[in-house]
Amino acid sequence: MDLSYILNELGEEREHYFNAIAPPIIQTSNFKFNTVDEMRQRFKDEYGGYIYSRGLNPTVDILRKKLAALDEAEDALVFNSGASAIFSSVVPFVSSGDHIISVRNPYTWAQRLFNDFLPRFGVQTSYVEGRLLSDFENAIQENTKLIYLESPNSWDFGLQDIAAISKFAKTRNCLVVIDNSYCSPYYQKPILLGADLVLQSATKYLAGHSDVVCGVLAGRKELLQKVFNLEYLTAGNGIQPFNAWLLMRGLRTLPARMDRIAKTTQVVLEYLKQHPKIESVIFPLDANFPQVELARKQMQGACGLLSFVVKTTDPKNIEHFSESLKHIMMAVSWGGYESLIIPRIAGMELKDFNPSDPMQRLIRLYVGLEDADYIIADLEQALKSITN
Ligand SMILES: *Cc1c(COP(=O)(O)O)cnc(C)c1O
Repeated sequence: MDLSYILNELGEEREHYFNAIAPPIIQTSNFKFNTVDEMRQRFKDEYGGYIYSRGLNPTVDILRKKLAALDEAEDALVFNSGASAIFSSVVPFVSSGDHIISVRNPYTWAQRLFNDFLPRFGVQTSYVEGRLLSDFENAIQENTKLIYLESPNSWDFGLQDIAAISKFAKTRNCLVVIDNSYCSPYYQKPILLGADLVLQSATKYLAGHSDVVCGVLAGRKELLQKVFNLEYLTAGNGIQPFNAWLLMRGLRTLPARMDRIAKTTQVVLEYLKQHPKIESVIFPLDANFPQVELARKQMQGACGLLSFVVKTTDPKNIEHFSESLKHIMMAVSWGGYESLIIPRIAGMELKDFNPSDPMQRLIRLYVGLEDADYIIADLEQALKSITN
């Protein structure tokens, strides 16, 4: 299906709403029935139509069609956060006594799910480095039900071989779930590589304007129906119509934003690589990236998010740099119009700083929609505050 068709037309039946170009926000909690039998039939199959907006809603349904098509999946559900998409990608598929293999250091709230939530219900998780297929082969147990991937990771961009792991998982009747937030379906389609379920924080590139928190889970209809019938309706964590509309508006410009950010990222990357106060730059499609071959094989591109290691022995220098930026803001998240940074030291106490560990001198930069020169000039003036 053409990307332009998906973004501009798929799911939109304009003749049903006055030929309006923009779809309506069907801001209703409930839907009327005309006969008892109609109501009875719908109660038997809530996934087949409208009863109440904690379940399905027509504005959200337009979006579901587009998001499923972007991932080349049969179906998609949209959530009120990426974290709830993570929750719903795992919890429906495990029971007490089951085992999960996760790549090390997935997104924080996936870690909390595996470390603090699921053990209360008798589900254990093993973490693996994930660069080699053998990491998964060695960790698998009789009771392993699910393999959880995040490729690339959003800090050091470690990758897993999605096709090889999915092929192995099938031989063990194990589901493969992947957090695809870094690439988005624009740059990586894990379903085509064999993954069963793909999720993304739509807060990032898909919505793209730093004004809505939302998430997507896509895969086979049978799997999503299972998620919907119990966990989705029980947790009540589906996206609401207005946020769905904002996400749809953001999606219209996905290719334009991604292409622009990809170009700017290249320019900023080249600038950072030659700067004497920068020790190294980490970006999955950079020629020096240790897994660049795998990145080229399974990703169609990359943009925006990169990390760099500052040459310094004093963490105060990293603080000065971060606080000297005039335009690039210090904030969590990414994927919006605005450039952002997070210094790794914000997540630790200064007394624990060890300058010989480059990961502690890491700064994550998100390159937004500004001009490359504007971003570079800001970095240049702030890098002057790094003295030793
Ligand atoms: C932001 C993020 C999430 C969580 O998404 P929210 O929309 O913030 O709940 C999950 N995974 C990754 C990689 C993220 O960057």
